Amino acid sequence: MPKRPAADPFRLGDVDVAPGTRQRVLLDVGTFLTSEPLRLAVHVLHGNRPGPVLLVTAAIHGDETNGTEIVRRLLRDRRLNRLAGTLLALPIVNRPGFVTRSRYMPDRRDLNRLFPGSTGGSLGSRLARVLTEEVVQRADVVLDLHTGAVNRPNFPQIRICPDRDKDLELARVFSPPVILVGHPKEGTFRHACRTLGKPFLLYEAGEALRLDTPAIRFGVEGAVSVMRQLGMLRGKATVRRLPLVASRSFWERAPAGGIFTPLVPLGKAVEAGTQLGFVADPHGSGDTPVIAGKAGVLIGRTNDAAADEGDGLFHLASLEELDRAESRIARTAETLPTAHEDEDDHPVPYDSLNDTI
Ligand SMILES: [Zn+2]
Repeated sequence: MPKRPAADPFRLGDVDVAPGTRQRVLLDVGTFLTSEPLRLAVHVLHGNRPGPVLLVTAAIHGDETNGTEIVRRLLRDRRLNRLAGTLLALPIVNRPGFVTRSRYMPDRRDLNRLFPGSTGGSLGSRLARVLTEEVVQRADVVLDLHTGAVNRPNFPQIRICPDRDKDLELARVFSPPVILVGHPKEGTFRHACRTLGKPFLLYEAGEALRLDTPAIRFGVEGAVSVMRQLGMLRGKATVRRLPLVASRSFWERAPAGGIFTPLVPLGKAVEAGTQLGFVADPHGSGDTPVIAGKAGVLIGRTNDAAADEGDGLFHLASLEELDRAESRIARTAETLPTAHEDEDDHPVPYDSLNDTI
């Protein structure tokens, strides 16, 4: 058997990570008001064999815990023991927000509007710069993990930029029920990575501060599938379901203030004119129905019981061909992981630092 070429050490910051090992590398960002350092913790899993570099980021919004859990499970996944190439994994990008259970940085700025960042800007801007220049620049592909806001769960979906064949190929392999194609806002991590020409998948699933087992399993299996497609892991990437691809989405908002009752679950495909829920006058004088103005699949919803007029209640991905959508969504529902927790969700912990892979 010819010997396969070994990888070179992977350098991040001032640390060299040897092939076949993993290490947590800390990158300096600045200091907190307590004078303690703010550092970006990057897990580097460097395979024995050369290959591409996948960056997985979570909790850019500090309260989006599902992504952190996805990275945590990936880091202890035994399938990564025979890695080719390098996985750079950040379970917590926005550490101050994670500590305070907040979406934002301590100065109330949204880190995901501060990219690509700068050396002389706010703490968040400096954090964005370190992530962009010291980590993203080293990556070939980026997978960024998000959830909906508090009380606003999202149906599992991948968001990608338009006209990017590689992004679409990897999104299909990730196999979410829905792929949403759209232009990212300036200042977002996605926009910065697109500007650098990196293929970029944004995974949205579940809600803030709440673990969602199906959404987490989707995320782990999607990331493994992407790594297979990139040649980083053995096995063939399988498209487990044919995702719906939508290029537009819209919100249905509260037509009046009151007590909100939803009638349609996440993932449901609806026709224009379908009643999605109703808002009831708390004084008992009547109900106002919430109607879908166009056909779509429900990809996000509020769980708040109270709504002011104009509050966003339902987020729908636009659909042109509803019949096809319904059959696909029905097939998707059959393949959704169950919410049942089993042993595989909680493998025996081990010391992930400086471990051999
Ligand atoms: Zn987010």
